[in-house]
Amino acid sequence: MSEEIKTTNFIHDIIDADLASGKRTEIVTRFPPEPNGYLHIGHAKAITLDFGTAEKYNGKCHLRFDDTNPEAEDDEYVKAIQEDIAWLGYNWGDHIYWASNYFDTMYEYAVRLIKKGKAYVCDLSSEEFKDYRGAPTEPGKEPPGRERSVEENLELFEKMKDGGFEDGACVLRARIDMTSPNLHLRDPAIYRIKRAHHHNTGDKWCIYPMYDFAHCIEDSIEGVTHSMCTLEFAVHRPLYDWILAELEIFQSQQYEFSKLNLTYVVLSKRRLLELVNEGRVSGWDDPRMPTLCGMRRRGFTANAIKKLCAIVGCTKFEGITEIEQFESLIRDDLNENSLRAMGVVDPIKVVIENYPDDLTEEFEVANHPQKEEEGKRTVPFSRELWIERTDYMDDAPNKFKGFTIGREVRIRGAYLVTCNAVEKDADGNVISLSCTYDPETKGGNAPDGRKVRSTIHWVSAKHAIDAEVRLYDRLYTVENPLGDKEKDFKDFINPDSLEVITAKLEPGLANAEPGTRYQFERVGYFCADKEHTPEKPVFNRTLTLRAPRKK
Ligand code: ATP
Ligand code: MG
Repeated sequence: MSEEIKTTNFIHDIIDADLASGKRTEIVTRFPPEPNGYLHIGHAKAITLDFGTAEKYNGKCHLRFDDTNPEAEDDEYVKAIQEDIAWLGYNWGDHIYWASNYFDTMYEYAVRLIKKGKAYVCDLSSEEFKDYRGAPTEPGKEPPGRERSVEENLELFEKMKDGGFEDGACVLRARIDMTSPNLHLRDPAIYRIKRAHHHNTGDKWCIYPMYDFAHCIEDSIEGVTHSMCTLEFAVHRPLYDWILAELEIFQSQQYEFSKLNLTYVVLSKRRLLELVNEGRVSGWDDPRMPTLCGMRRRGFTANAIKKLCAIVGCTKFEGITEIEQFESLIRDDLNENSLRAMGVVDPIKVVIENYPDDLTEEFEVANHPQKEEEGKRTVPFSRELWIERTDYMDDAPNKFKGFTIGREVRIRGAYLVTCNAVEKDADGNVISLSCTYDPETKGGNAPDGRKVRSTIHWVSAKHAIDAEVRLYDRLYTVENPLGDKEKDFKDFINPDSLEVITAKLEPGLANAEPGTRYQFERVGYFCADKEHTPEKPVFNRTLTLRAPRKK
C-alpha cells in the first residue's frame, strides 16, 4: 500500500475551491501514459500527483493508455507500465481505459464540429500548411478550403475515413482563428491519414486523431475533473477548452505543472530507447537507467522515489533537482529498512594461527542494529577469513579503523584478533595477515573489559560464496548531458559506469530472493539481481554507504 505523503500545492488549492463552490463534487484524475516506452522517474512525479491527488480527495484516478498513435506502441510496454505503477503502491481498481476505445466517439465528435461549421478538410502540403499558419509575430493566411460547405466537408472527411486519399494527402482542421496570437489556435489539424496497424483496433482505421483533439475528449468521456500535465501543454490549453466547449460535452479542466529533472539523468523515452537499441545499456531495466524498472532492479525503493516527488512538489517553475538529494533519500530509507549482511568486495586473507584447523563455530549476529524484531542469523567462523583490503594498513595512525601489525581488532560478533605479520606479493600487495585470537573473547568482548578501536566485517573463507557483484556508477560524466548543443547526449556516457567484480559473501546470501535489499556492513547497499540464483549469485550495488565527496 502506498505510504501516505501529505501534500498541498496550487492544484490542491484549486480543487479545494472547486469543492467549496460546488463546481465539482467528486475528484477524478487520470494518468495517461503513451505505451511507447517504459516509465521513468519523471513519470513517477506525474503518477504521485495524479494518484496522490485522487487518494487525498477520496476520488478516482484512471489509468488511461493514450494509444492514439498507432506507431511505436507495444503491448510489452502496457504490461510494464502497470507493473511499475503498482510497485509505486497505486491502484487504479477497475478504472483502466484505452484512448483507442474512443475512436468511434472521436470520429462522431469530429463530424459534429464539421456540422457546426467548426472543422474543415484541408489539402495543403505540410510545407504550405506551415506557410499559411504564419509566425507568432505575423498572422496566418486563410487556407483554401476553409470556406468549403458543410456537405462537402462531411463528404471529404468520410472519404478520408474510407481510405479514399493517400496518407498525408489532407487533414481535418478545426476552424478557429488564423490570426490568433496562439499558433495552436490557428486552425490546428485534428485528424490525419495514416495507414498503420494499431495494436488495439487493428486495420479498422486509416485516420487517427491528433493528440490535442483526442486528449481533451478522452478526459471528458471519463468525467475527469482535473487533468494534470506538464508545462509545455499550457499553450495548448485554450484549444483543449475550445474543443470541449464547441462539442458541448463534459468540461474537464487542464492544469500544468513543471517536469521533474535530475542532474546526471536524461529523461525522455525517445532517448532511453536509443540507449537500449544501441546496446549502450543492457535493456530498459538496466540498473543505470532512470526507468522505474531499472531503479527497482538497482535496489532503489518506491518510498524514496515518492518522497523525492513530494519534496520536489508540484509547482509551475522549471527546476532541476540534484541527484545527491535523491541518493540521500534512498540511503536513509535503505539504512532504516534493509537487512544487514557481511560481504567483502576486495578480499585479503586473515589466517588465525592458533585457531584449530578443523573447527567451525557459528556466531549469532543481528540482522538490523536498531531493529531487534528483525532477529538474528548465524554466520560460520573458521581459521581463515576474508577481510577487506582497506582494513589493513602498514604503520597505521591511531585513528585508522583496522589492522596494523601489533593491533587487536574486533572481528564482528566473533573474537578479538591481533595481527602479527603480513605477507605481500612481489609488487607489495598484501596477500594475507598472520594473526592470533584470544579464545576468552568469544562474541567479540574481552572479559577483562579492555577496549579495541575497531570492529570489522569478515566472512569465513571456507564457507564464503563467490558472487558476481556489479558496481554501478552514474551513466553520464556531466550534470547536464543535454546542455551542449554541439554534442549528442551519448557523448557524455561514463565509460566506467559499470564495474563487475567477484566478492566473498556470507553463505546465507546464496538463498536471497531476487530483489532483496541489503546493507553489506561498512561497504554499501546491494540488491540481489533478478538473475541471482544460489548456484550463480549476482548482486547489484545500489549505492555506496555514504555519498562520495563532491569533486
Ligand atoms: P517523454 O518525454 O519521456 O517521452 P512523455 O511525456 O512523452 O515522456 P507520456 O507517456 O506521454 O510520456 O507521459 C505520461 C505523463 O507523464 C504525462 O502526463 C506527462 O506530462 C508526464 N511526464 C512525462 N515526463 C515527466 C517529467 N519529467 N516530470 C513530470 N511528469 C512527466
Ligand atoms: Mg511522448
